[in-house]
Amino acid sequence: MFRKILIANRGEIALRILRAAREMGIKTVAVHSTADATAKHVRLADEAICIGPPPASDSYLNIPNIIAAAEIAQADAIHPGYGFLSENARFAEIVEEHRITWIGPSPDHIRTMGDKVEAKRTAGALGLPLVPGSDGAVETVDEARAVAEKFGYPVLVKAAAGGGGRGMKVVENAAMLEGAFRQARQEAKAAFGHDAVYIEKYLSNPRHIEFQVFGDGKGAAIHLGERDCSLQRRHQKVLEEATSPALGEVDRNRMGLICAKAMADMKYRGAGTIEFLWEDGEFYFIEMNTRLQVEHPVTELLTGMDLVKEQIRVAAGMPLSKTQADVHLKGHAIEARINAEDPQTFAPSPGLVNEFHAAGGPGVRIDSALYSGYRVPPTYDSLIAKLIVHADTREEAIARMKRALEEMVVSGIKTTIPLHQRLMDEPDFISGDYSIKWLEALLAKKAPQV
Ligand code: ADP
Repeated sequence: MFRKILIANRGEIALRILRAAREMGIKTVAVHSTADATAKHVRLADEAICIGPPPASDSYLNIPNIIAAAEIAQADAIHPGYGFLSENARFAEIVEEHRITWIGPSPDHIRTMGDKVEAKRTAGALGLPLVPGSDGAVETVDEARAVAEKFGYPVLVKAAAGGGGRGMKVVENAAMLEGAFRQARQEAKAAFGHDAVYIEKYLSNPRHIEFQVFGDGKGAAIHLGERDCSLQRRHQKVLEEATSPALGEVDRNRMGLICAKAMADMKYRGAGTIEFLWEDGEFYFIEMNTRLQVEHPVTELLTGMDLVKEQIRVAAGMPLSKTQADVHLKGHAIEARINAEDPQTFAPSPGLVNEFHAAGGPGVRIDSALYSGYRVPPTYDSLIAKLIVHADTREEAIARMKRALEEMVVSGIKTTIPLHQRLMDEPDFISGDYSIKWLEALLAKKAPQV
C-alpha cells in the first residue's frame, strides 16, 4: 500500500480524499494556491506545499509545479479528485513517467473517453445504446444538414472536447443550422482549443441517469447502480438521487450489467461513470467520466462502500473489494449541491463566512471544506458543501433533507440552500416526476415569496 498520497485538488474533494487516506494509515500531501493558504484541506494534511498564485492555470493546473511538489514530498501516488487535471491523460502519463502511481484509469482510457466522438464510437462497439446522430465528427454544413434531416429536428451540435455542460447548441430547424454549426465550431475552438463537433438527436424530455462502475484493470468489473441527475440548470447538476424514481429493478439490472461487462471488456481500472439519457424506457449513452464524480456519496450511502478507498486499493493493484453479487443497494439517498450563489439569480457570492453550522443527526452527511471565519475565494467553483441524506425510503429521505436544510447555517454569503428547500416542497419533485427540462421551467416561473 502507498505510504504518502499527494492530493492534486482543493475544497471538499481534497478533504474527502484526505479522510479516506488517513483512515487507511496513508500520509497526505496537500497542494494549494496562495488563495487557499488557510483552506481546511491544507490545515488537515500531513504536509502542504504552495504550487502557485490564485488562477487555476498557474496552480491547480500547473503540472510542473504539482510534479515538483510530489517529488519534494516523496509522494508515491497522486489522487486528482474531480475537475482540474482529473481527466487530463497527458498529466496521468507524466505522473506515471515519474514513477508515481496515478490513482485513476489508464491514460489511454482517459484519452479515449475524453474525446466524446471517440467515446461514442467505443461505447457503441462495447454494446452500449447510443443517442441517434452523426457517425463521428461532422466537418461541413452539408454533412450537418444531411444528419439533421436523417434524424429530424431538433438536433444538438456538441463539441467533441466539451465538458461541464459547455459546448452544446440546440438547432430547432433547418434555417438555424448553418449559423449554429459555424458558431458551435468557433466556440469549441475558443473554449477547448479543438473545433471538432458532432450532431445528436435532441431528446425532448429525457432524464439523466448514470451508472457508477468500477474495474480492477485486469478484466473484473462491477456496477454500483445508478444515480438520477436530471435536476439540472444550464446542463449542470443541482441535486442527485439514487435510486432513480423512474427506474425499476429490471431496467437497472439490465443496463448495470451491460455497463459492467463493457468495463470488464475494456479492462477498465478504477472508478468511472457511464452517463445516459433515459426516455420512454430506453437508455441512450451520452458520455463516460473517467474519474470520481461530485455525486459519488449517494452511491456510497446506498452500497456502504467507500469509493475513494476503493480507488486507492485498485490503484495499489488490489482486487475489487466486492463482486457483483455482494453489491446491494439499500434505501434511498439524495445529495443537494450547495453553492455560494444567489438562489434566484445564481450570481456568485464569494466572501467571508461568519458562521457555519453543519446539519447532523441520523442519516445526514456533509462533505464540505467550510468553517466559520473561512473566506470563499472568488476564483474557483462555487460549490461549498454537499448535503447528503440517506433513509429507508424516498419519502423519508425527502423529509430528512428538509430537516437537514433547516439546520444548516451559512451566514455572511448567499447560498443555494433556499432553492433546495423550495425543491423539497415541489409536488413534481415529491412524486419523482421530473426530466432534465423541469428545473429550468420551474425557475422561469416566479419564485414564491417567503
Ligand atoms: P458534458 O460533458 O458537458 O457534461 P453531456 O454530453 O454529459 O455534456 O451532456 C450534459 C447534459 O446536456 C445532459 O445531462 C443533458 O441534460 C443534456 N444533453 C446532452 N445531450 C443531449 C441530447 N442529445 N438531447 C437532450 N439533452 C442532451
